[in-house]
Amino acid sequence: MKKQFYSLPELTYAYGDLAPHISAEQLMIHHQKHHQAYVTAANAILEKFDQARQEDKILDYKSELKSLSFNLGGHMLHSLFWKNLMPEKQGGGKVQGEIASKINEDFGGFARFKNEFTAVAASLEGSGWGALVYHPALNRLMCFQIEKHNFLFTPGLEVLLVVDVFEHAYYLDYKQDRGKFIEAFWNIVNWAEVNKRFNKK
Ligand code: MN
Repeated sequence: MKKQFYSLPELTYAYGDLAPHISAEQLMIHHQKHHQAYVTAANAILEKFDQARQEDKILDYKSELKSLSFNLGGHMLHSLFWKNLMPEKQGGGKVQGEIASKINEDFGGFARFKNEFTAVAASLEGSGWGALVYHPALNRLMCFQIEKHNFLFTPGLEVLLVVDVFEHAYYLDYKQDRGKFIEAFWNIVNWAEVNKRFNKK
């Protein structure tokens, strides 16, 4: 039997709960097909590594690790993404707690932060993520871009909030219109979860 190093996490809400911002069909495909594909690929690479150890074989690590970084990054970021979403009717989109004060302090207000994060996510070239990160050494929040699932990412940064701007995240609901999707995203952010991550810093 194949070893399952990673598995697809269950969502804490139903597929239809994020509508109208993300439709049930879009969310289900994103979770069950796209996220699952990263889990499957990461598991396959780790399995291959174990196999090679048993056979004392040396693999093409340059290529394997590039793929592992991409797929593992995809798995970790999607796992964060599901958790930082919540249904609007349950309070999604309402910023709260210490993160709200820190956003005011570091960005000069929530409206400014929202505009900045939106521009960061919207302007990402190709596929990737917009991220709110915390830099512990600087004690600062920053908006970052993560290209694909693993590029432009700086070690040591703590990722507090992400928005997936791969086209696969929104094509059924918004066609090519990434801007519309990001606008909708603000209504379903689980700020309690972002606050929890910030307080673990
Ligand atoms: Mn995705």
